[in-house]
Amino acid sequence: MKYDTLVIGAGIAGLQAALDLAEQGRQVVLVEKNPSIGGRMISLSKVYPTLDCASCITTPRMASVAHHPNITTLTYTEVKQVIAQPDGTYHAHISKKPRFIEEDKCIGCKRCEEVCPVYIRDDFEHNLGAKKAISIPFTNAIPQFPVLTPDQCTWCGACANACPVDCIDYLQEPRDIFVEVGAVLVATGFELTPFNAKPQYGGGVLPNVITSLQGERLLAPHGPFGRVLRPSDGKVPDSIAFVQCAGSRDASLGVPYCSRVCCMYAIKQAMLLSGSLPTADITIYYMDIRAFGKGYEAFYQNAKAMGINFVKAKVGRIRAGEDGNVFLRIERQEESSQPEEMNHDLVILSLGMKPQWNPKTLAWDMETDLDGFVKSPDAPMDPATTTCAGVYACGTATGPKDIVDTIIEAGNAAMVVGNHLARGNA
Ligand SMILES: Cc1cc2nc3c(=O)[nH]c(=O)nc-3n(C[C@H](O)[C@H](O)[C@H](O)COP(=O)(O)OP(=O)(O)OC[C@H]3O[C@@H](n4cnc5c(N)ncnc54)[C@H](O)[C@@H]3O)c2cc1C
Repeated sequence: MKYDTLVIGAGIAGLQAALDLAEQGRQVVLVEKNPSIGGRMISLSKVYPTLDCASCITTPRMASVAHHPNITTLTYTEVKQVIAQPDGTYHAHISKKPRFIEEDKCIGCKRCEEVCPVYIRDDFEHNLGAKKAISIPFTNAIPQFPVLTPDQCTWCGACANACPVDCIDYLQEPRDIFVEVGAVLVATGFELTPFNAKPQYGGGVLPNVITSLQGERLLAPHGPFGRVLRPSDGKVPDSIAFVQCAGSRDASLGVPYCSRVCCMYAIKQAMLLSGSLPTADITIYYMDIRAFGKGYEAFYQNAKAMGINFVKAKVGRIRAGEDGNVFLRIERQEESSQPEEMNHDLVILSLGMKPQWNPKTLAWDMETDLDGFVKSPDAPMDPATTTCAGVYACGTATGPKDIVDTIIEAGNAAMVVGNHLARGNA
């Protein structure tokens, strides 16, 4: 199969770039390793600085991609190998993982999900909720096909018996797909820095210390509990703390850089929490507040005016208190003071961003920076170029950034890829 461009990753960067290329008349094959397109953005609650509902603004973009005649979307699919050809094209070996359903038959009716007797952890809810062992990944997933999790399925046959179109296939195997493309665009995004990187913060051990993406799900309209409750006992939290720089700006963690989004997403989550829980005390422990974008400083000042407490302090240790509460040992930075212990119901660690995928796993000629993000050797003037001719990159695959900057980069990358194809380099 021949396409103009292979876009790897269908987060907001890949979606935007694929759409822009398709609108230029280019044939795009968009490959996403997860069962749905949408990336991280579809799982956010609202987005700063406008507080638009993330799902409401991402879903139409996802639908436009899924229905565009110039875009072939392959979900639950991974790129195994990309090989440069002497004529400037690339040959890619792609592998489609088994969902254990036949996609051309499935009508997305969810009968399989309803009858499945097995509950497993819900990865879309970052393990705060449960889902069935065969289920559609989330309400507005695109495509609306279920995935069966083989490790946890008991193979009881209930889903196959209930399926009205007979599309369950327990014997499905991975399927190889080979494509030939004129250019490649890497939009493989980010993941959070490890939750347990600082063991003294209790990430993954203390149930009421959660990640910022779990915080997003707690606040999402269709979140795991439908309201803000703390995970250990379902209590409505009265006192919530954010710990900034919990995974960034620390060379000992291998993340010496600033992740650029944590200050703003913590301020956003704090504002949303104060809307949901008007009587709760909300405190952000920070070292510096970096509100660098358009309208961001005003957003920060609004949060202060709403009564969010900003405490300039280093958090040394987090330990379990009584009744599920959590104690933070802090050292204020504003005046010389003794370490103090602060008591909170729930703590959100503002973890940083690290690259989600190492393109070197494909053994091609693509370099990354020391921090692991895709190297853009001509970054100031040409941020989309990489060290491989005909291969471009955008979004958080090249470094931490927010949605606005990601969309701008994706548009630029689509233009640069279009120019590359028009020059007949491929
Ligand atoms: C807690 C939190 C809250 C945030 N809130 C905001 C906010 O309010 N406003 C804002 O502007 N920004 C916010 N951000 C930042 C925002 O999430 C990112 O800017 C945006 O999601 C980046 O999009 P992306 O497409 O680059 O990456 P991603 O969303 O990570 O998408 C990358 C996609 O590539 C796929 N992929 C990865 N590797 C492969 C592979 N090998 N093959 C195929 N597919 C692959 C992934 O599955 C994923 O779907 C927040 C970030 C966090 C962590």
